[in-house]
Amino acid sequence: MLYPETLNVNEHGHLTIGGCDTVELANRYGTPLYVMDENVIRKALRDYKKSIDENYQNGGMVAYASKACCFKEICRIVMQEGCGIDVVSGGELYTAMQVGFPAERIYFHGNNKTVAELRMALDYGVGRIVVDNITELHLLSEIAASMEKTADIYLRITPGIEAHTHDFIKTGQIDSKFGITLENGDALNAVKTATELIGISLKGLHCHIGSQIFDEQPFIHAAEVMLNFIAQIREQTGVVLNELNLGGGFGVRYTDKDSPKEYSEYMRLVSAVLNEKAEKLNLPVPYIVIEPGRSIVAPAGITLYTVGSIKEIPGIRSYLSIDGGMTDNPRYALYKSPYTAVVANKADRPADCVYTIAGRCCESGDLIQENIKLQRCQRGDILAVLTTGAYNYSMSSNYNRIPRPAVVMVRDGVSRIVVKAESYEDLVRNDI
Ligand SMILES: *Cc1c(COP(=O)(O)O)cnc(C)c1O
Repeated sequence: MLYPETLNVNEHGHLTIGGCDTVELANRYGTPLYVMDENVIRKALRDYKKSIDENYQNGGMVAYASKACCFKEICRIVMQEGCGIDVVSGGELYTAMQVGFPAERIYFHGNNKTVAELRMALDYGVGRIVVDNITELHLLSEIAASMEKTADIYLRITPGIEAHTHDFIKTGQIDSKFGITLENGDALNAVKTATELIGISLKGLHCHIGSQIFDEQPFIHAAEVMLNFIAQIREQTGVVLNELNLGGGFGVRYTDKDSPKEYSEYMRLVSAVLNEKAEKLNLPVPYIVIEPGRSIVAPAGITLYTVGSIKEIPGIRSYLSIDGGMTDNPRYALYKSPYTAVVANKADRPADCVYTIAGRCCESGDLIQENIKLQRCQRGDILAVLTTGAYNYSMSSNYNRIPRPAVVMVRDGVSRIVVKAESYEDLVRNDI
């Protein structure tokens, strides 16, 4: 019933994560509280790494997409596991730099990086700057030349792939703010320009087709399209690019309606096609970079809340209000994202009541789930929303001047704070 394996129910009927009793965690650290199991994060990184080693003869890199969840301790974990990191802003880059993340394993993304961010990336010497568009290519060339540096870059290509996911998290189709269009020849022109500009060294290509994708076909298709393009570049320019970044986007299980494959299985299926295609095109198998974000951290995390008011509207629905909401998890308000929830102190009881979980913001859309089955609740119960490790903390806000909750990391029955809860003082820190 419970997923992932880090979750369990102990002899008190309490939900546990990473061997820690969630009711004790709520008592000790307060609620709302983000809890993440370090072992789950490390295992996901290792599994991806192993699949790259097993499937690609020229190796590759697992670059964790830090936008899924970014704070110093996550950066340290990724660094210790020998993985790379993908950043999309000066702030994410700064966080990685603060823990001494090896610059050569940093990939810098974004469709509108500022001059200051590009300078910062060049100063720190990030491994690859992923250039998103032609304007940025020229800008970067000027900046790098003025700093007497060379920027090692990938070009982000929009391969024209439709992946079946939410409109807002699709990125591979032609109508996208991201990347350089392949179909109309823009991408080939950008490659030619990149090989001619001073201050620029083109190392390879990048694509990312979207997020929360379950079907392997779009990944396979994207890999094929990109390899064909590498062959076309060789034909037209004589340049052989031997690095290919295939992005992230692997789906995770939020409810029992979702059934993702093992990540190693996606890797095996994509690599089989890619390796075969490389041989056919007489190309070296590129060094492969992947950028999983969600699938590394989502299953590792849960959020704990305390149940407050319960409002039953006969014949309509029952609202169960919690001490958090869209400020710590805006995903339902944004995308109607499905989640599984459990009453943590009654986890051994049947889920035979139907509730709509409401947050505490002045906003009717501030919901976490509508009409889901839960154990019968009363004020003071602890509610656990599962699979919240990705795009929750990182998308949190201070709307209604609600301070962000703490993040606690658990591992083998031991817990520790890795991000402190914000205080009211933090909220007014920059107010004049
Ligand atoms: C968001 C993003 C990722 C990570 O996507 P997930 O769905 O979290 O795996 C990887 N690469 C790029 C460029 C992204 O924008």
